[in-house]
Amino acid sequence: MVSFEEARSIILGSVETVGVERIHLLEATGRILSEDVTAPWNLPLWDNSAMDGYAVRWQDCVATPCTLSVTGFLPAGATSDGISVAAGCAVRIMTGAPIPEGCDAVIPVEGTDNGMQEVILLEPVKKGQHIRFCGVDVASGVVFVRCGAIIRPPEMNMLAGFGMALVPVFRRPTVAILSTGDELVELGRTPGPGEIVNSNTLSLASAVIEAGCIPRIIGIARDTRDSHLEKLGEGLKADVLITSAGVSAGDCDLVRDILEELGAKQLFWKVGIKPGGPTAFAMYGTTPVFSLPGNPVSTMITFDEFVRPALLRMQGQHRVLRPLFKAVLRESLKKKPGKVQIVRLRLEKEGGCWYAVSAGNQQTAILKTMVDAQAIAVLSAESTDFAAGDEVAVHFYGNYIELE
Ligand code: AMP
Ligand code: MG
Repeated sequence: MVSFEEARSIILGSVETVGVERIHLLEATGRILSEDVTAPWNLPLWDNSAMDGYAVRWQDCVATPCTLSVTGFLPAGATSDGISVAAGCAVRIMTGAPIPEGCDAVIPVEGTDNGMQEVILLEPVKKGQHIRFCGVDVASGVVFVRCGAIIRPPEMNMLAGFGMALVPVFRRPTVAILSTGDELVELGRTPGPGEIVNSNTLSLASAVIEAGCIPRIIGIARDTRDSHLEKLGEGLKADVLITSAGVSAGDCDLVRDILEELGAKQLFWKVGIKPGGPTAFAMYGTTPVFSLPGNPVSTMITFDEFVRPALLRMQGQHRVLRPLFKAVLRESLKKKPGKVQIVRLRLEKEGGCWYAVSAGNQQTAILKTMVDAQAIAVLSAESTDFAAGDEVAVHFYGNYIELE
């Protein structure tokens, strides 16, 4: 058995990115940049006005109020070529328009009488005011987003602003999802006696999509050697393979043996975590293989704690763990030492502080508690009992609808 921390570090130490591609910016939301990106030009490209108003020579307006002649008009999109502003003159200018030769300040229209031929400036003027100077945002040649950055609206805006229609990103791994067990029927069929719906495939596919990867549904391996050989073999063609069930010590638990037969190298089996103890991890060449326990709660928790960070790392993300924050327990929690325990919680916010209560029955088989949970506490292996008022580290999980 490995510890929770060892399991994570073995996994994160084994996985690598699966290549890069250039994609259109519009397709790039949530993708991870695979290169540092350098500004090809200054942003902004030229000095321009930050306000609708008048471009002036600052020295003409040291003492206000004063009156200047309006000798031109510069809307956004116009060029200031050939426009130069003589002493005692001003140009009416709109936001974004280039600052004409000779001007070194902009007076917002609100600080004037809004005159057309002549303008009276009512407010004191500071040199350089309301001018967005060339390169003040990003200077040409500077790296403005780094390899590993997630492409969100701000990155998108800047990449687009620099005219980058194609961006280099890490490829999204394909993730094969295989369920195992003779008791399973596919969604759409009513389970007969002794049967249950293969729900893990659905929640794993959903979790894989949420983690930015592409699910490949392999279906169900029956509890026979042949079926396992065939389905596991198919799953190993993807960039990642996730199996559920058949990984404990039961008579029909074939996953690990058949994976080994197919050439996968097991790096651990059994983790000090509850739920999720029987989790196994292997590498088949460069393909990580996660064998998760079949109990749906264990499957989801082990995905979140072990598989998700690996999938994020495989897409080039640096921060792969969910951020933790402190919550104060409203009630006591009992725990045995020796294993990390995952507790499903609901949250309340009071006086700027998070408080946590159990999201329901914590038994592994209770799926509803997973639906109701808003946060997960990962209680360390050494810790034992927690009293009401104790702080625990939690991360968000699931629905926060009632938190607002
Ligand atoms: P096993 O690891 O094969 O002993 O399965 C553990 C528990 O998880 C059993 O109660 C199974 O019926 C259940 N289970 C296994 N696979 C799935 C699945 N794909 N969807 C839902 N429940 C499952
Ligand atoms: Mg089984």
